Amino acid sequence: MPSLFDLSFEQLAALLSEWGQPLYRAKQVWGWAYTRLAPSFAAMTDLPKALRELLEGQLQFSALAPALNLRSRDNSTHKILFRLRDGYQIETVLMRYRNRRTLCISTQAGCVMGCVFCATGQMGFDRHLSAGEIVEQVLWFARQLKNENDALTNIVIMGMGEPFHNYDAALAAVDRLTDPEAFNFGARRLTLSTVGLIPMIERFANEKRQVNLAVSLHAATNDLRNELIPINRKYPLDILMPACRDYVAKTGRRISFEWALIHGKNDMPEQARALARLLTRPTKLLSHVNLIPLNPTRDFAGAASTRERVADFKAILDAHGIPCTVRVRRGIDINAGCGQLRAAAQESVSAPPTQSN
Ligand code: SAH
Ligand code: SF4
Repeated sequence: MPSLFDLSFEQLAALLSEWGQPLYRAKQVWGWAYTRLAPSFAAMTDLPKALRELLEGQLQFSALAPALNLRSRDNSTHKILFRLRDGYQIETVLMRYRNRRTLCISTQAGCVMGCVFCATGQMGFDRHLSAGEIVEQVLWFARQLKNENDALTNIVIMGMGEPFHNYDAALAAVDRLTDPEAFNFGARRLTLSTVGLIPMIERFANEKRQVNLAVSLHAATNDLRNELIPINRKYPLDILMPACRDYVAKTGRRISFEWALIHGKNDMPEQARALARLLTRPTKLLSHVNLIPLNPTRDFAGAASTRERVADFKAILDAHGIPCTVRVRRGIDINAGCGQLRAAAQESVSAPPTQSN
């Protein structure tokens, strides 16, 4: 049975028209789904009952079923492990800051890229998510927040999977989320993170969306990046950095670089200086560096950098005038790092993380 959220408006309108329904009915269903955030067909109360029943019989309302629901002790982080219809599982995480509500969404069940420090990379690849499955993660949390008279302020595509390996579905989801006729989320408040798939960075640059782009760098020399991020052998720094510069030149948009600080691995002054060189030569690149102390994972021996090393690393970037922010790790007690909840859920049935409801 097709899923409502995998349909474009045109497809929904065509389906309803086959059932003899006028166009305004399709607009009503669309409005309920994306703007009024209905949790079911039954909740679309101004549709005739017969139509609601027809919809229920012919379309799946939700492709995601919450399987585990976890909140951090301080309630700032809320994570859901969703079961897809074929049994695969993905994670979505809501982070509440003082004045921000940031949702981190997945684009694949697992990931083929195999970055050694990443829990998702360690579990391998199950399958791509459909555009509907990506969009629905957002709608699920948007409904929850609406019940609290609250709303999402930011969306980051930094959950499980590599969005540029599932380009069409990920970007169809982005377009649905930002479409004024659908979820109408501001593109500038949406960030997509890639491991650095160069052809797709080029494609994305040419499409000129207002969405922010982040590139997971983590190392400033090929030797080290090859070790941490296997795809660097195919797309090494000497062609990745020009592609990033080209993106900035084409879009006029700042680019972000992600750097998970791993003790004794990529947190030494040499790496900070090498990073500074990449971002200032031949010219200064319009960029921002996010430093995130590593979230330890089961199959990677690395640890998070010490506070001192983080400060030293930042000081070197500061001295080169490179904007940079140290990100606080969130929800450590509920395995809120990329792919970590699913890994933990599969590993230990006897000692599950704290479950709230
Ligand atoms: N595949 C994309 C997006 C998902 S990963 C990418 O790699 O960019 C989102 C971010 O989390 C990436 O920057 C990734 O490198 C980072 N990450 C993965 N595992 C991590 C860990 N154990 N600790 C800190 N950051 C991690
Ligand atoms: Fe995939 Fe990103 Fe994890 Fe690398 S860091 S394995 S690209 S999800």
